[in-house]
Amino acid sequence: MDTSELHSVPRNTGWIEVVCGCMFSGKTEELIRRLRRAEIAKQKVAIFKPRIDNRYSAQHIVSHSEQSLTSQVVEDASEIIELSKDAQVIGVDEGQFFKANLVDVCELLANKGKRVIVAGLDQDYRGKPFEPMPQLLAVAEYITKTLAICVVCGNPADRTQRKTHHADRVVVGAKDIYEARCRHCFEPPSE
Ligand code: ZN
Repeated sequence: MDTSELHSVPRNTGWIEVVCGCMFSGKTEELIRRLRRAEIAKQKVAIFKPRIDNRYSAQHIVSHSEQSLTSQVVEDASEIIELSKDAQVIGVDEGQFFKANLVDVCELLANKGKRVIVAGLDQDYRGKPFEPMPQLLAVAEYITKTLAICVVCGNPADRTQRKTHHADRVVVGAKDIYEARCRHCFEPPSE
């Protein structure tokens, strides 16, 4: 749900939007789309991503379809508070790579009257909830779950299948390492 499409947009308050789903589901495209619309509406926008994600570009958030926006890289979510103090709309990409304090930071910013939009994976490669996204979903006003297409059967897909045998929760990569799969075709890794 894009709040610009709501009949009633919140007034005199901030709020949190979460865009979540598996890899290749269009989360970042949706985040970029919302932020671009805010920019067109002459709102001040600030965009952040965690340092861990070194794909493609250090200063841009880039979707797999190669749309991009200039973003700031932060080590910790707490840095966003100071860096976004002039912004009305705050975008955060790869929310799952932040620590648990991302939730408190988003709450604080929304409580200050800002629109906060976070995109991130809601499940890890095992199909388990990927913190802190579940906690963020619980406190967000608006939630969008984006679905990909299962590469095996063509069903709507909400799982990220890892094609290698790394046991680390975070292995950064794209189509070389991951693919989208539906519940039926997803094969959880053996522990
Ligand atoms: Zn499938």
